[in-house]
Amino acid sequence: MTSIVEALGVHKHFGHLHVLKGVDLSVAERELVFVIGPSGSGKSTLLRCLNRLEEPSSGSVTVDGIDMLDPRTDINHARQRIGMVFQSFNLYPHMTALGNVTLALRKVVGKSRAEADALGMAALQRVGLADRAGHTPGQLSGGQQQRVAIARAIALEPRVMLFDEPTSALDPELVGSVLEVMRDLRQSGMTMIVVSHEMGFARNAADRVVFMDDGLIVEQGPPAAIFESPTQERTRAFIGQIQ
Ligand code: ADP
Ligand code: MG
Repeated sequence: MTSIVEALGVHKHFGHLHVLKGVDLSVAERELVFVIGPSGSGKSTLLRCLNRLEEPSSGSVTVDGIDMLDPRTDINHARQRIGMVFQSFNLYPHMTALGNVTLALRKVVGKSRAEADALGMAALQRVGLADRAGHTPGQLSGGQQQRVAIARAIALEPRVMLFDEPTSALDPELVGSVLEVMRDLRQSGMTMIVVSHEMGFARNAADRVVFMDDGLIVEQGPPAAIFESPTQERTRAFIGQIQ
């Protein structure tokens, strides 16, 4: 198996705070890696180091063969290969769903409006929102807004998708539609790294669960192994709390 994401010995300091303490994470093509761990353990920082929204203090990060930390790397170009979806959808409120989805296609990739609109509509179709293309975020539910954010990311045809607590801001009844879209993406062969508390999704969609604590990967393995028979005391304690 080829790995598409390769992080080695990643450290991150924020001033005196040592947040990542030497993380190694290698993700194979088409793999869905699910990251769990207590609040403050460094999950978001790790994801952000993968697309260089945060600059690691040391270590190496390679995504799809591109050295993300090499100063010669065109980072905006490299980031197009790495879609990211956040807890807060970060949509422009005054733009339609289609406008949000096509913005980067037009401004960053340089597609014509017609091309961008065609790609944007295809992306909205994939998340089941083609009929909402003309709606602004305020006219959409939270779940629909998050699906627009996913469409915006996949419209750029990324090689990897990072999800940072994509359903945490949603009312419970809206969570399912977002997980459904993530399941479809996974089925289509997308490589995904997902930070989430949706353990049911982890059990039936993840290839591997990674448990982080205090800036380190403490334990990782297939969902059943991590949830049913973790080997580390810290993993056991965490799993015990959330179930
Ligand atoms: P998690 O996502 O697992 O909850 P984070 O990666 O968000 O954890 O945070 C890990 C630690 O790093 C926390 O103590 C957090 O306060 C700190 N942290 C995160 N981002 C910053 C930042 N930009 N500046 C200073 N401290 C930060
Ligand atoms: Mg976080």
